[in-house]
Amino acid sequence: MKIAILSRNGNLYSTRRLKEAGEALGHEVDIIDTLHCYMDITSSRPTVRYHGKELPKYDAIIPRIGASVTFYGTAVARQFEMMGTFNVNESVAISRSRDKLRSLQLLSRKGIGLPRTGFASKPDKVKDLIKNVGGAPVVIKLLEGTQGIGVVLADTAKAAEAIIEAFMGLKANILVQEFVKEAGGADIRCLVVGGKVVAAMKRQGAEGEFRSNLHRGGTAEVVKLTKAERETAVNAAKIMGLGVCGVDLLQSQNGPMVMEVNSSPGLEGIETATGKDVAKMVIEFIEKRVAETPVANVNK
Ligand code: ADP
Ligand code: GLU
Repeated sequence: MKIAILSRNGNLYSTRRLKEAGEALGHEVDIIDTLHCYMDITSSRPTVRYHGKELPKYDAIIPRIGASVTFYGTAVARQFEMMGTFNVNESVAISRSRDKLRSLQLLSRKGIGLPRTGFASKPDKVKDLIKNVGGAPVVIKLLEGTQGIGVVLADTAKAAEAIIEAFMGLKANILVQEFVKEAGGADIRCLVVGGKVVAAMKRQGAEGEFRSNLHRGGTAEVVKLTKAERETAVNAAKIMGLGVCGVDLLQSQNGPMVMEVNSSPGLEGIETATGKDVAKMVIEFIEKRVAETPVANVNK
């Protein structure tokens, strides 16, 4: 097969590993810088151009689209879909996953466990908004945040009100969420590939830190999932429509709760913590899907 990885940087661990794994399985793998792709979207024969040339027909693309280039990146991925190329994570699913609010609404409708979450745009009923998710302590999140930046724990209703009003004053979109204290500053990252959890790790925040992000100094170790955790991760990936994703769970006293579903999950942390060859499993998933549906995505 001919596979293209859409990535801004070929030196990133995940991009490198996917290329290596594809080549090891006998495929041709190109790394394409998403922002350098351009196209005529009205042509009856859709193509993608790159550095002055038309790109060849790929059997599959692996989009590794950073949050800051979601709009253009999903447009490029969509163009490949129009050409009948199998896309590991469809453009619509990536857009969906990038909006935390939209994701939580979709997951909630299907009965996935979630922390109680409120959303509002005007500061006039802030007290009620806090009360509505169970009262302080609450977690306040910027809708556009990543890597734990823009996630704040407010211990008291007073602090929560002040933070919410400050964010709203800056016209930022925020979520107000029940603080799942019993998670103990840890979460579980489940790597889902083709409807199966292929690797899982528990991430523990640094001492005194409720956020478990590795970028915030957290540490990771392999974890054995319960049946409920496994099912929750698989269902969340399915509802979001993602072939490859990272599902982050909190272990609450009411069972697993999904915090977010990441459509470009980093492979370094999870491969290091679990010793699993996740990149190879991604390529094997592509092999299977391309063999099953030669004109995958053609109607999307
Ligand atoms: P980001 O997408 O920026 O990583 P998250 O929503 O995943 O933001 O939050 C970052 C971290 O903060 C999570 O990994 C988790 O450890 C902690 N956290 C987030 N929300 C809650 C919550 N409602 N209760 C307890 N801990 C939380
Ligand atoms: N390594 C990132 C973090 O811990 C997570 C990237 C991802 O979501 O896979 O913040």
